Amino acid sequence: MSKFCKIICVYVLLTVSLVTHAQQVRVDSLRYWTAPDRTRMVFDVSSQASHQVFLLANPARLVIDFTDAKLLKPLAQPPANHGLFTRVRSAERNKNDLRVVVDLKTAVTPKSFSLKPSKTYGHRLVVDLFSKDKKITATDAKKPLIHKTVKNKARDIIVAIDAGHGGEDPGAHGPRGTQEKKVVYDIAKKLAVLINKKPGMKAVMVRKGDYYIKLRKRMEIARTAKADLFVSIHADAFKNSKVKGASVFTLSNRGASSETARWLAKHENAADLVGGVKLADKEDMLRSVLMDLSMTATKEASRNVAGDVLKHFKIIGALHKNRVQKAGFMVLKSPDIPSILVETAFISNPGEERKLKSRKHQARMANAIFKGIVGYFTEHAPMDTYFALNSNKRHTIARGETLSGIALQYGVSMKSIKSINALASNQVRIGQILKIPRG
Ligand SMILES: [Zn+2]
Repeated sequence: MSKFCKIICVYVLLTVSLVTHAQQVRVDSLRYWTAPDRTRMVFDVSSQASHQVFLLANPARLVIDFTDAKLLKPLAQPPANHGLFTRVRSAERNKNDLRVVVDLKTAVTPKSFSLKPSKTYGHRLVVDLFSKDKKITATDAKKPLIHKTVKNKARDIIVAIDAGHGGEDPGAHGPRGTQEKKVVYDIAKKLAVLINKKPGMKAVMVRKGDYYIKLRKRMEIARTAKADLFVSIHADAFKNSKVKGASVFTLSNRGASSETARWLAKHENAADLVGGVKLADKEDMLRSVLMDLSMTATKEASRNVAGDVLKHFKIIGALHKNRVQKAGFMVLKSPDIPSILVETAFISNPGEERKLKSRKHQARMANAIFKGIVGYFTEHAPMDTYFALNSNKRHTIARGETLSGIALQYGVSMKSIKSINALASNQVRIGQILKIPRG
């Protein structure tokens, strides 16, 4: 009898421990993403984790208590010389709980939230640490406009360059594992260098490193920087690895110009889920509706600049589509800033993955975008810019126009038009583009 009881008791105990075991949350890994205004810690967890986050002083520590959770292997340590952390420790508590302690170098304000599984990840717990003595991201606009244009006080044209994805969101990846976030950042940086070298232009990088920025925030950063143009750079994947070539997009509120376009926009708009953003709040939704109503004026400008960029991509290689594409990309919804999205290539195509990794080809793509932008602003620079004051207008010859008529129209001499365009005679042909000297 007593032996029987023992067996039963052991059985019951085993069952209880198995049940507890099954319900316990497993903390699998930890990633760090450092943005200018915050550092993000992302824990991969086996199911939604009940947790508590608090601070301890002297010395400063951050504590994350997971209820009924365990760790199977040590957590990754923060990058060496991180501005915020020294190290991360963990210990079992009350037998079933887990405590993670982060040794801090400076005071922080923590915020945490859980994320449900997405295509890329399972359950996650995100802890954002905002450091108290650091500035927020969009400080570029407040910096005084230095260099180049101070003399005549005309302002610079500001181009916001948005390297897609980042941090927790790797974007698409190629058959050899190349990450979209990495190659588009490289292209974006090269574009920024070209723009900053051009007198009268200034680049603002929307993300300045490997961290995620939610889509609405990307637009806000451009607005804070008083951008004249927003360029989002991508290299997405498609389900068919044969699909290749560059395409340039503007916003469509009414549906996409092709199936690929719709597919890309759908994937792109889901980036916030992957990147680690809590469910969209109502205020965001409302704002997006208001924005949609007021943006018709920006559309034509977006189309024009997209056309110019596409033209230059055609010169360096294959286009996916010969025309500017349209789709409902969230990131293009600024009502007052012309915005384009450049799919530089399809990373899912083995040949294009190789090109995307090549520095030489990255430079070529950056240059194509740059030339398109310059081409656009040469004709459409805002009045108060250095660019408007210092660039020549252009005129496309229409049927019946003569050189003398054009000279009259712009109030300049025929001789000056001929000289700036290196024309040998007074003959012009339909469709010819002439530079018009400043009067
Ligand atoms: Zn993308």
